[in-house]
Formats: sequence, structure tokens, C-alpha cells
Amino acid sequence: MDHRPSPLSLLPPDLREATLTGVPLRELTTLRIGGPADLVCPARNPDDAKRFQAFAADRGLPFFVLGGGSNLLGADEGCGGVVLRVATTGFAVRGDTVRAGAGLDFDDLIARTLGAGLTGLEFASGIPGTLGGALVGNAGCYGHEIGEFLVEALVLRPDGRLETVGPEAFGFAYRATALRETRTIVLEALLRLGRGDPAAAGAQRAGHIADRRRKHPVDLPSAGSWFRNLPPAEPGGRRQPAGVLLEQAGAKAMREGDAAVFAKHANIVVNLGRATSADVRRLVERMRAAVRERFGVELVEEVRQLGP
Ligand SMILES: Cc1cc2nc3c(=O)[nH]c(=O)nc-3n(C[C@H](O)[C@H](O)[C@H](O)COP(=O)(O)OP(=O)(O)OC[C@H]3O[C@@H](n4cnc5c(N)ncnc54)[C@H](O)[C@@H]3O)c2cc1C
Repeated sequence: MDHRPSPLSLLPPDLREATLTGVPLRELTTLRIGGPADLVCPARNPDDAKRFQAFAADRGLPFFVLGGGSNLLGADEGCGGVVLRVATTGFAVRGDTVRAGAGLDFDDLIARTLGAGLTGLEFASGIPGTLGGALVGNAGCYGHEIGEFLVEALVLRPDGRLETVGPEAFGFAYRATALRETRTIVLEALLRLGRGDPAAAGAQRAGHIADRRRKHPVDLPSAGSWFRNLPPAEPGGRRQPAGVLLEQAGAKAMREGDAAVFAKHANIVVNLGRATSADVRRLVERMRAAVRERFGVELVEEVRQLGP
């Protein structure tokens, strides 16, 4: 028998109170897959984040940062250690800037900035997840990316330092940042927006949301596009959608257990009900192999793994 105290009992009382244990990853991710997380720790402010991070480091526990879980595949076996859920939710408009908590729902943030007369983010309407997740993944669509708007961010470094950094520290790239690979946690961001035509921005927002409803799975759990689009054939050209290659390689007919390729978009994996992460892994490897065999192209995954 294991007589070691559970990690929960070792947390200071105020952090313990807010911490959840054994929450299935399927309840924390939009693809609705995955076994229990040992400790789900909400960081409501920078100090919480710092203390949870130090707790994991001091005890040598695995440490994972979670936003809205909309770009993650939860492991069937769950996730040991600390899952830090970024839950900073401040919101303050000043001039043409907004300072916002990285735990804010990204689409709510867009609605609130438009409500405050600030335009610019409407292109991203309907992207699920949090502001922090959007920033570290440089979320984008319709030719724009969130990285274009960042002035500075409050981040927590892996060594426990809180720092305010500018966009150069993020190293924004296509659906990626250099910062994400350093295990730095984004807690707050200052974005510079514009004072354009609110009616036009509102109409664009409504149009994008309607477009997403038509093209994306609304009734089925998913994690968005699985693979990255391919680099442009010539400099300055458009990226080649991975979905087109997947469709031509026959991916739309693929299914493994309850994990299937979405009928309207060959780059989206949906959970038909009881899909496991093993089902998804098998399906994703079949999709990748089909494109490799047909086109000699190696697709790179955009969705990340949560758990071992
Ligand atoms: C239906 C659907 C449509 C989508 N459409 C788009 C789209 O058009 N464009 C697009 O770019 N994406 C899209 N996505 C993917 C996803 O919504 C984005 O990648 C989103 O920005 C992820 O944010 P999140 O908070 O859910 O991150 P999570 O899924 O929780 O985490 C993703 C990664 O970011 C890290 N992370 C999260 N928050 C932080 C933080 N505060 N600090 C440090 N690291 C952090 C995590 O550790 C993990 O590595 C879509 C997803 C779905 C389900």
C-alpha cells in the first residue's frame, strides 16, 4: 500500500480549497476525451500561479498549463501532477488598448471589446478557448493572427520570475510561438486595438460566427483543425490547406472506434460519443499516412497531447 500523503493534502489551505481532484480530462477539453487529472489548480491571480508552480517544482510533480482545452487531446490514462488552469479574468479598457486576463474566454473578450467600441479582433470571432491559449498558439483565421495586437504581457517563467514582456519575447509564427516551447505561462495581456466602424465590425463578427456554424462541427466535440496547413509554395503565397490534401487522400471516410473525420472538413477529428485517445491516435496516424503515401508530404499536428 502507498502510505505517502496525497499531493492535495500538502497544498496550503487556501490553494487546497480551490483545487479539484480527479476531474476527467474529457470535462476540461472540447474534444471530450481523457481520464482523470490528479490536481486541477485554478490560478486566479499571478500569486496563485506562482505558488502552484513552486509547489509542483518543489515536489517534482508533472506540471501542465491549461486554458480552454480547445486544442488538446486528453490521454485515456489521465494526467498526474498539477494541471494549472489559468483563471485570470481582469478586463480594463484604456484609450484604444485593453488589458485582459489570459484566462478570459477569447470570444467573450472579442464581444466585450466590440461592446466598448474597440475594433480589430472581430476576425477571430468564434475561436474557442482562452486569450492565453490564443496568444501562445498565435491563433488566427481569415488572414489575421492575435499576435498582431499584442503590446505586452505579464508572464510567469519556469524559474518563478514574473516578467512583463513585449511581442518579441513571444516569437510569433504560424499557429505557434517560441514562448510556448519555454513553458512560460501567460497571465495577462495588453492589446492595442482600433476605433474603426463598430457596425461593420459587428457585421463581420456575425458573418464569421455564421460561417463557422456552417463549416465546423457544432453538435460534435472536436479540437479544431488537427494538422497545420502547409507552407506556401512560393514566398508570400498562401498556405495550402491540409484539409484539401486530406480530402483528396480519402480521409473523410476514415473512422476508428468513435473517432471520425468530420464529414464537412477533412482536417477535423470529431468524437462521435465514446472516442478514446487511443482511437484518435490511430485515426490521426492513418490520416497522416494517407497524405504521405499520396503526396509525399508529412503533416505536422497542431493539436497537443494533455497527459503522458
Ligand atoms: C471548433 C473549433 C474551431 C477552432 N478554430 C480555430 C481557428 O480558426 N483558428 C485557430 O487558431 N484555432 C482554432 N481552434 C483551436 C483552438 O481554439 C485555439 O488553438 C485556441 O486558441 C486554444 O486556446 P485554449 O485556451 O483552448 O488552449 P488549450 O487547448 O487549453 O491549450 C493549448 C496549448 O496552449 C497552452 N496554454 C494555454 N493557455 C496558456 C497560458 N495562459 N499560458 C501558457 N500556455 C498556455 C497549453 O499548455 C497547450 O500547450 C479551434 C478549435 C475548435 C474546437
